Amino acid sequence: MSASANSPHQIVQIGCHASVQDAAARMFSHNVGCLIVVDDQNRFVGLVTERDIARHVAVALDGGAGLGPQTRQDAFGVPVCVAQIMTEHVVSCPPGTTSSEARRIMTEHRIRHLPIVDQGIVVGILSARDIMGQQLLEDRAAAEEVAMLSKCLKSIDLGEAAEIVATEAPKLFEAQNCVLCLYPQGDYSREPELVSSNRCPCVAGHLKSPEAIGEIPAEEGYFEAQVPAECRDPGGQPPRLILPLQIVGLPEAVSGREKRLGGYLCMCGLAPSSISNRELTLYKAKLTREIVVAHLTNATRYQQARLTSLTDPLTGVGSRRLYEDKLQEEYDRAKRYSRPFSVAIIDLDHFKMINDVLGHAVGDDTIRKLADCVRQEKRNPDILARYGGDEFVLLLPETRAVDAAVLLERIRTKAQLVCLEQGMALSVSCGIAESRTETDEAPGDVMRRADLALYEAKNAGRNCVKIWNEGMSRLINTGDLEIDRIKRLQRRIMGLSEKAEKVFMESIWSLVQALEAKDTYARKHSENVVAYAVGIARTMELGPKYVDLIHRSAMIHDIGKIGIPDAILFKPDHLTPHERRIVEQHPMIAVRILEKMSFLENEIAIVRHHHEKWNGQGYPDGLARTAIPLGARIVAVADTFDALTSSRAYHTSRPVAEVLRLLKDACGYDFDLTVVVAMAAWVEDVAQRLETTVEGVTADDLLAAAETGDMMPHPEAADIAIGESVTSS
Ligand code: GH3
Ligand code: MG
Repeated sequence: MSASANSPHQIVQIGCHASVQDAAARMFSHNVGCLIVVDDQNRFVGLVTERDIARHVAVALDGGAGLGPQTRQDAFGVPVCVAQIMTEHVVSCPPGTTSSEARRIMTEHRIRHLPIVDQGIVVGILSARDIMGQQLLEDRAAAEEVAMLSKCLKSIDLGEAAEIVATEAPKLFEAQNCVLCLYPQGDYSREPELVSSNRCPCVAGHLKSPEAIGEIPAEEGYFEAQVPAECRDPGGQPPRLILPLQIVGLPEAVSGREKRLGGYLCMCGLAPSSISNRELTLYKAKLTREIVVAHLTNATRYQQARLTSLTDPLTGVGSRRLYEDKLQEEYDRAKRYSRPFSVAIIDLDHFKMINDVLGHAVGDDTIRKLADCVRQEKRNPDILARYGGDEFVLLLPETRAVDAAVLLERIRTKAQLVCLEQGMALSVSCGIAESRTETDEAPGDVMRRADLALYEAKNAGRNCVKIWNEGMSRLINTGDLEIDRIKRLQRRIMGLSEKAEKVFMESIWSLVQALEAKDTYARKHSENVVAYAVGIARTMELGPKYVDLIHRSAMIHDIGKIGIPDAILFKPDHLTPHERRIVEQHPMIAVRILEKMSFLENEIAIVRHHHEKWNGQGYPDGLARTAIPLGARIVAVADTFDALTSSRAYHTSRPVAEVLRLLKDACGYDFDLTVVVAMAAWVEDVAQRLETTVEGVTADDLLAAAETGDMMPHPEAADIAIGESVTSS
């Protein structure tokens, strides 16, 4: 704004020969603080101000001590003229001087009046009071203008807020182009996290960090009369204004540190008046910057909070909230366009055991690993969310259930390759259901069906994928929510008891191993008996449940030996009849140890009778022939086979073929012929596979063939129905 455009202070003149008294009277009558002094030709010769007159009066009252001759004269009553007290060498400015330049001149010369002189004639005068008033008005107008930006910034969405800034901020400065650019952590070497531009020809990317530009304090902004070549070339116009922006968001989940965005709002092609009134431009820039930073900070925090509620903090996949939103969205879309849509629920198997055995930290890591598996296998439009503790849900738009099953099977296989500690592998069960848009009333219906399918997968022994079918529905009263919950709970409880059994078997197996470790000769005895018994059972083509029952029974068949004194148990010689009777207590000791374990009912029977003889001469009950449980007859053969093929204190190991002959000889007395024949058939089978004869087969060959690396039976074995016959041959 120019001084001439202003309404400068009224010009009141006085002749240089007028008296000081006249000057004072004139000032008072015109209510001005300064008079322009002119000579006889009306030319500007000086300025007399209130201060000059006050100084004159002060001197007169003081008697003129220490002052110049003229003032002393006045003290003696001689009239003094204006020319004698005026300021002769007056600082002035030409017409058209901007108010900011006028302000600068006045500040520099420490004066409060600045005449505007045109060819020796005073055409106006600016006073400090006027300039300050003017500045206040300008600042208020600028503040009101910038406040309008705040009113426009209605959206709390970060992207939208940035767009509004890029559109509205340049209007405040009459700038042609504008770009808002924010970098993660204010790191200009990274990809910007947010760019919003209003016709900016260079669309960011050319700016170095504004701090690197220097000079003007960052809080105000950088105002430049020029634009650098990299902006000029694509069409950037001077002058330009850069406002550095520092946004501090909320602490981030992963690092715990506050999210920071740093960057700038760059505007170029500003109105030329921005240069002439630089101070005002910078003042507006400061206000604009404050408003933009405050608003973008709020928007960033809002975005973070929203993202947090939609993201699962442990895995980074969608949260349950996201799943709920998206399920409704996808379900509506599928219904509207009659398109296929499937959902899949993925649940970790026996996850509680992973937590219990390996700890919760590994448990958390396992959940993350599963999330990664699914993330890597799913297609882009599929939505993955954490549905519960160890459950994930996949929303599969445009997907039929059969195609979903292919994907889920891939995920299941991939998950199996994930190794946890202690050789445990990841296993998941999956349930899939396809939306039936014509009959489903709500998205919850398809989820309920997927949950039923998951229940079926768990029921089928876990580690598998099941697609919902009508048969599954008949299991429950569909639509009845409580029945649904009962099924869920049943599934959980089933898993719990299964786990308890597994944990029990693991503990008891450790006991057996500890017990055998004390005996140099019997080391690995139970492990070998498991291998041989399973080998026989499989050769007899018993069902998997029987095989597993025999597996478990063989594992614990000698647990009762824990009650036999070491001196007898490890005696390196033949036992006395009394000692033998003590040893013969071990099946009943085992029964006593295990009898409270109702889930081991069938195993206990086998353990109890594994020393019965075919002819009824065995112990503890003297059962004969098929009254002896089949499992016990098998364990008996396996037990003796291992004892004879291993070295003992009182005999050396015998070859397999010879032991087979001994066993055959004992058929009808000690052993069931069917079982011994099966044992022989298994040995023959191994011989054939090794391309040798029965004579060439060793105990180690048989153990290797049995592949008993995993000593734990299959989980589905727990499903064996109570009362199922295990005694018939
Ligand atoms: P099932 O095969 O029947 O699924 O058996 P499960 O042991 O996996 O049983 P279920 O799915 O019911 O158990 C989920 C468990 O997950 C319950 C809880 O202890 C555990 N869990 C839930 N959330 C978390 C978590 O964030 N971290 C860890 N480590 N464990 C969790
Ligand atoms: Mg689970």
